[in-house]
Amino acid sequence: MASQAARRGPMSVDEMLQKKKEEEAVLAKPKFLSKKDRERIALEKLAKERETKLQQQQNNGKSNDATSQNNIATNGSSSKSSTPVPSAPRSMQQRQRDIAGNGTRSNRDPSPSSETEIVDPETKLLRERYMGVTEARRLKRRRTASDRKFTFDWKTEDDTSADSNPLYGGDGSVSLGLKNTGEADEQKKRALELQDLPRRKKDTDWDNMHWSEKPLDKMKERDWRIFKEDFNISTKGGSVPNPMRSWEESGLPPEILRAVEEAGYKEPSAIQRAAIPVALSCRDVIGVAETGSGKTASFVLPLLSYIIEMPVLNEVTKSDGPYAIILAPTRELAQQIETETRKFCSKLGFRCVSIVGGHTISEQSFALQEGAEIVIATPGRLVDCIERRVLVLSQCCYVIMDEADRMIDLGFEEQVNKILEALPVTNSKPDSDDAENTRLMSTYLGGKDRYRQTMMYTATMPPAIERIAWQYLRRPATVIIGSAGQAVGTVEQRVEFVTTEDKRKRRMADVLNSGEFEAPVIVFVNIKKNCDMVARELNKLGWKAVILHGGKSQDQREAALKQLRDGEADALVATDLAGRGIDVPDVSLVLNFNMAKNIEDYTHRIGRTGRAGKSGVAITFLSNEDQDTFYDLRLMLSKSPLSKVPDELRRHEAAQAKFAARKTMQNIQ
Ligand code: ADP
Ligand code: MG
Repeated sequence: MASQAARRGPMSVDEMLQKKKEEEAVLAKPKFLSKKDRERIALEKLAKERETKLQQQQNNGKSNDATSQNNIATNGSSSKSSTPVPSAPRSMQQRQRDIAGNGTRSNRDPSPSSETEIVDPETKLLRERYMGVTEARRLKRRRTASDRKFTFDWKTEDDTSADSNPLYGGDGSVSLGLKNTGEADEQKKRALELQDLPRRKKDTDWDNMHWSEKPLDKMKERDWRIFKEDFNISTKGGSVPNPMRSWEESGLPPEILRAVEEAGYKEPSAIQRAAIPVALSCRDVIGVAETGSGKTASFVLPLLSYIIEMPVLNEVTKSDGPYAIILAPTRELAQQIETETRKFCSKLGFRCVSIVGGHTISEQSFALQEGAEIVIATPGRLVDCIERRVLVLSQCCYVIMDEADRMIDLGFEEQVNKILEALPVTNSKPDSDDAENTRLMSTYLGGKDRYRQTMMYTATMPPAIERIAWQYLRRPATVIIGSAGQAVGTVEQRVEFVTTEDKRKRRMADVLNSGEFEAPVIVFVNIKKNCDMVARELNKLGWKAVILHGGKSQDQREAALKQLRDGEADALVATDLAGRGIDVPDVSLVLNFNMAKNIEDYTHRIGRTGRAGKSGVAITFLSNEDQDTFYDLRLMLSKSPLSKVPDELRRHEAAQAKFAARKTMQNIQ
C-alpha cells in the first residue's frame, strides 16, 4: 500500500482527513469477517510478530558473539554457559528447516509444523480456534477394541503358544540370507523343531488324552478314576496303591515278567491289575472277583516276587519249611493252583509242593524232603502234616487263602486257626495304621523274616468272609472287581421249568443234540447217585462222560479231570465238589440238571464256563422244589446283560421276596 501511495505522489491534507474520516466510518460500522478474512488477519499478525522476534534475536546474537569472542581472547577457553543449548543434532535441525522451507510438509499437513515454530500460547489458541483440532489432539483419539485386527477372548499373558512354538521363543528378529555356517545350523535346528511341532503339541495336551496314551507320570487322579471304571475296579481300606496299566508297569521283577510273557498272558486281567500292586506293597489283601478272572496269577505273581528276594534254600534252611503257603478248600483246586504256580515257578527255579488228601503222608513227606519255597495245601491235610511233624512253618511269612468263602462253608475255620498258630508269631503285623505302611511292612525283622502278609481270594463275599477277614488279616485293602458275587458277565444264563426227571432227560438230549454246544460240557447234579444216571444218559447220546464226586478216590477224580482237559471225555458229570474253582478250558455249556441249593453255589457252577474272557451258556432246569433260590436267581438273571428272566420265574410267587422274609411272613400269618 505504501508503494502505491508513493507512485501517485504525496496526499494533500484534505485527502488525508477525508481518508481518515472514511476509515473511521468503516471502523465504526459493525464489520462481518469471513473465516478467510480471519485467517488472513491472523497470519498477517503472526508474520509480523515473527519478524519482530527474529530481529530481536539477531540483535542479541550479535552482541553475544561479540562477548564470546571477547571471552576467548581473555580466558583462552570457551564458556559453555554462554552457548545456546542445541535441541537436536545439527543435521536434524537442518532437515527440519529444509522441510519447512520446501513447504512439502506444510502442503500435506495444514497445521504448521511445531518443530519450526516457537510455541506461543496466543498463537496456539488462535490456531485451535480457527484451524480446527491440533495434530496432538487428533492423534489422541481413543482406540477402540474393534480397531484391532484380531480380538481374542484371552489375555496376552494367557497365550501359551510361545511355550510350544520355537518360532515365538526368539527375539522376533528375522534374518534373510545365511551369513555364516553357525547361522545355517541354527536355522536347520529351527526347521527340525518345527517339524517336531505337531508331536510336541500333542504331547503337551495331557488333559485331553486318554489314560492309555499317557506316560505313567502324567496320570492324574481323574485318569485313575476312569481307568478303574473301565475295568470295573473298586477298592476300599486306607491308601490303596493305583492299579497297573500293563505288565511292564507292574513293578514285578524282569524274570517274572519274562515268565508271564512265556505263559502267553498278554494283558493282565482286572483283578491282576488291581490286586498285584496292593500285594506288592506288602498290604494284606481281600480280593473279590468272579470265577475264571485270573485270581490265581494275581496272588502267585506277587508271592514269587517276594520269594525272589529271599535267600535260596540250602541244606539247612530247607528243613525250616516253605516261605509261603497257599490254602485251598479242595484237592482239585489245590492241584490247579499248583499247575498255575508251576507255570512261573519252574522258570525261576523254585519248587512248589501240594499237600492234599488222597496221597499218603509218606509220599508227601518224601516230596517235602527236598525242600520247597511254596506249599499248596488243603487245610485238613496241612494240619495233619504239622501235627505229625512232617512239616514246620518256621520261616513262612506269606499266607494265601483261595476260595476263602468255601473254606468257611466247609467248616475249615478251626484248621485254618491251627495253621496260623504254627506260623512264627514274632512277625505278625501290628493292628494299627502301621499295617498300611509299605516301607515299614517291607522291612526285615531281626534277619530274613518280614512281617507276615495274608491274602484272601474269593468270588463271593458273604458276611462270614468279612468276619474271618478281621480275624486273620491286618488292615486289609479290599479289591473288588464288578459287584461282588455277581455271575460272570460272559455267561448267558437260561432257566427253564422242567419238572420231572424223565422230562429233564429228554430236554437234556434236545439241548445236546441241537448242535449248539461243543465238548467239553459240565452237567451238575445235587446227589452222588444221580451222577451215574446222568452219565449213562450222556453216553447213550454219544457224549463220553466222566464223573467227579466226593465218593470217588483221588486218583479217579484226577483221572476224570485229566480226561476232560485232554479231550478224551466230552462231558463231566459232577456234584458241587467241582463247582468251585475248577478250571477246564473252553467249557461251552454248564447244565444244571438240578438247580444248586443256594445262589453262591449256582454262581460257582456257572462260572465253569465263560472263563478267561470267552463266552459260555448255562442252562438250569427248575422245579418248585428250588423255590428258595428263585428270588436271588431272578435278581441275578436281571443283572446279567446276556440273560433274560422267563415269565414263569418273574411271576412266580417265590421270586417276589427273599426266602427268609417269606418264611417270617408265613409265620406271622
Ligand atoms: P479264578 O481263580 O479267578 O477262577 P483262574 O486263576 O483259575 O481264575 O484263571 C482262569 C484261566 O485264565 C486260567 O486258565 C488262567 O491260565 C487264565 N489266565 C489268567 N490270567 C490270564 C491273563 N492275564 N491272560 C490270559 N489268560 C489268563
Ligand atoms: Mg481260582
